[in-house]
Amino acid sequence: VESDMSQVAAKTTSHLWNAMHRYNPDAQTMMAVSGKGSWFVDEKGKNYLDGVSGLWCLNLGYGREEIAEAAAAQMKQLSYFPLTMNHPPAVKLAGKISELLGGNYQTFFSNSGSEANETAFKIVRQYHNQTGNPGKYKIISRYRAYHGSTLGALSATAQANRRVKYDPSAPGFLHVYPPYSYRSIFGDNPEESDLKAAQMLEEMINWEGEETVAAFIMEPFISGGGVIIPSPKYLQRVAEICKKHNVLLIIDEVVSGYGRTGEMFGFMHSAGVKPDIVTMAKGLTSGYLPLGATSVKSEIYEAFKQEGKDSHLRHVSTYGGHPAACAVALKNIEIIEKENIVARVRELGRKKLGQLHGLADHKNVGEVRQAGFLLGIEMVADKATKQPVDEASVAAIVNACKEKGLIIGKNGDTVPGFNNVLILAPPLTSTEEDLDFIVDTVNAVIRGI
Ligand code: PMP
Repeated sequence: VESDMSQVAAKTTSHLWNAMHRYNPDAQTMMAVSGKGSWFVDEKGKNYLDGVSGLWCLNLGYGREEIAEAAAAQMKQLSYFPLTMNHPPAVKLAGKISELLGGNYQTFFSNSGSEANETAFKIVRQYHNQTGNPGKYKIISRYRAYHGSTLGALSATAQANRRVKYDPSAPGFLHVYPPYSYRSIFGDNPEESDLKAAQMLEEMINWEGEETVAAFIMEPFISGGGVIIPSPKYLQRVAEICKKHNVLLIIDEVVSGYGRTGEMFGFMHSAGVKPDIVTMAKGLTSGYLPLGATSVKSEIYEAFKQEGKDSHLRHVSTYGGHPAACAVALKNIEIIEKENIVARVRELGRKKLGQLHGLADHKNVGEVRQAGFLLGIEMVADKATKQPVDEASVAAIVNACKEKGLIIGKNGDTVPGFNNVLILAPPLTSTEEDLDFIVDTVNAVIRGI
């Protein structure tokens, strides 16, 4: 079996174009052949703990049979039906999502996080058009944000490295200063600095003319841009600003949603905030099947149902809300609730992963940032100047963890060109032993440099 699988690996990589791949003839690309819980097995039979949940999506880990069975049962019952009409899993799931968001949301389904955001952008423009504000079309996001790979979502993504080769981006997308107190021109007092960053949004809306601004989109915690955890007051202030200027607030919960940060949704860390639109994917199905969702407050949806007028959303996705994907999402949410995953993440995030805050005294650790099971360790060459460590040093840490059987990520673009934030986002079902293994391995590797 081993040699068979090695041959498959060699053959596959010769015709497969890997995501984010930099050409390197000597590189060995990982190939997984099975997985259970937080662990997967490569083609040589070596076990790895997946400390980043695939691409931060395997909230319930690998190999949950109940989820596979839910997909199979749905495929046998009704293998496909378009959402230009209805099928039971989509109707039930839309109801469940509305309940989880606190009630009164209408959901449009797609297949991915990028599409969920694209859908939101079309909705906000049409909404303003149909409510007497046709000049409101600009969409503001933050530098360092990641909102997806398709051209609209990429235009809202504001990390230079991900975009420059594909510019020009779509017109009408603007970027504002992020709440990143570690490197902020507003100083390193998190709350003060983050509130000033929020104020930049209001300045921008004023300078652009509020009659031109349709929406503001943000991740509660910037993830791909280096795990940035602002003060809960930041989002509260942003929500006030958006409301004051009739700018719709889109919260991108693609990574933060479904328990990752110790609340069901990331925005729930900021009491009193009720987003106009919430986008989700990844943890919605724990990665078992592709599904994206754009959930819109009922008041906004009202503008799309004016009788006799051409007020409908002219938007469709063949596979969006596939019956099997919706059935999987329903089972996924059922398990998250039954197993009290959100409370578990809060508790074990503090008790286990939280031990990594101890690394803050290391000469190369600039800051350790955490929300539940989402953790970033910003590596610097010099603590005083905050000069990031070079790419090779970060790669060495990632590789040393991999040698020991732990997959961790790296990301950031904290200073253009520097991916100096180590990332941990393990499955939310990781056992206490799994979490000890993560903490011990990361501590040993970083202390060893
Ligand atoms: N938003 C955020 C916050 C993300 O992290 C991602 C993916 N990493 C996306 C959107 C895009 O999701 P997808 O890759 O499913 O299109």
